[in-house]
Amino acid sequence: MSKANLYKAPRGTFDILPGQSYKWQWITEKFREIASVFNYREIVTPIFEVVDLFERSVGSTTDIVEKEMYIFTDRKDRVFALRPEGTAPVVRSTIENHLQKDGNISKLFYLGPMFRYDRPQKGRYRQFYQYGIELIGSRHPYNDAEVIWFADMFVRNLGIKDFCLEINSIGCPKCSIEYDKVLVSFFSKYKPDLCPDCHNRIATNPKRLLDCKVSKCRTIAKDAPLILDYLDQECDYHFKNVCSYLDYLNIKYDINPFIVRGLDYYNRTAFEITDTSRKTQNALLGGGRYDGLFATLGGSDTPAIGFAGGFERLIGAMEQNNLCFGNEPAPDAYLIIIGDRAVPEGLKLIMELRDKGIKTEYNIEKNSLKAQMKAAANSKARYALMLGDDEIDTKTITIKDLDKGIQNTYPQEYLITFLIKS
Ligand code: AMP
Repeated sequence: MSKANLYKAPRGTFDILPGQSYKWQWITEKFREIASVFNYREIVTPIFEVVDLFERSVGSTTDIVEKEMYIFTDRKDRVFALRPEGTAPVVRSTIENHLQKDGNISKLFYLGPMFRYDRPQKGRYRQFYQYGIELIGSRHPYNDAEVIWFADMFVRNLGIKDFCLEINSIGCPKCSIEYDKVLVSFFSKYKPDLCPDCHNRIATNPKRLLDCKVSKCRTIAKDAPLILDYLDQECDYHFKNVCSYLDYLNIKYDINPFIVRGLDYYNRTAFEITDTSRKTQNALLGGGRYDGLFATLGGSDTPAIGFAGGFERLIGAMEQNNLCFGNEPAPDAYLIIIGDRAVPEGLKLIMELRDKGIKTEYNIEKNSLKAQMKAAANSKARYALMLGDDEIDTKTITIKDLDKGIQNTYPQEYLITFLIKS
């Protein structure tokens, strides 16, 4: 009788099991390759930070800060949060470590777990893994396009085809003075029909009324005034330039004036890539410009733009479309030792093979030829290498190609060359 599990992973978290971990590794490698092609360098920050960092940057009236942070107090009564996102920590670190010199551009990328206390469902977790980039030190619209280009290239290189890239400009604080006023006046007319969160948003964060997921609110928002009609001259010029650079780069996008992003620090360009083969949890990645964040966090006035995306959503999209994650790891060779006399020779051989970087498996617990052959097949090794009394006497080795079922005996001295070549 099997015992019930005494412990389970916390709700909203999951183990990345061996049958899945190679997929994560493959996707991470693809991300690193593109980061290197675009000349980004990795930055790794702690997974917890003082809670105030996120309250100030993400915004105290956002869902993330209001409802979703994992907050804890340490033994000295300091209040920390498990990081819900990666941009604020990167900005904190850039300021603290003086990484950004005036007139230079810093290009940084990060990978790692984020934590949000949200209602778990497929594609939405309490611990999830993000990749992200930050381009720090430029206001130029070309760099908005370059960051978007990176995002587009990454998704495309994974083989995902059913996606759409949408961009918007949410203007600057100056544009928002007028725009927030018209939004408040528009949505106030529908107050009784709005969800409780949108009720609050009228007073605290009017732009977020535009991306509420509740269907009644969405229907109302369809007729709301659009930010693109309220951009000041500079923001309008910036946005048109971003679009022109995307056009030069041949990157397909749609303009969606409802993309406002949930975090307070964004200004001007906002963008998202959505998996069009799914209806829910379909945001693959999102980003935007955050020119005011450095000053908010005590740094000098430093423009920046970046994006972040979730690995779980990418893997989901790839699995749904049967896309390839490279090969599942398997040994090159599985050593079968027949009889006690062959053990010392066999161990010498395994050492030699592993020293040469040939992935070799051997299971000392199995003795019979049949059991070892079965184990070799289960391991998905390409070759079974058989070493018994005959082979020892003649200094040979029997090699069975487990894909083709062909078996031959060769001089041992050719083994390594044979395995390296094949
Ligand atoms: P955000 O920081 O909310 O803009 O999220 C950026 C990306 O992270 C989203 O587009 C998703 O791909 C991913 N993401 C955000 N929240 C979660 C979550 N709770 N579970 C899984 N992925 C998430």
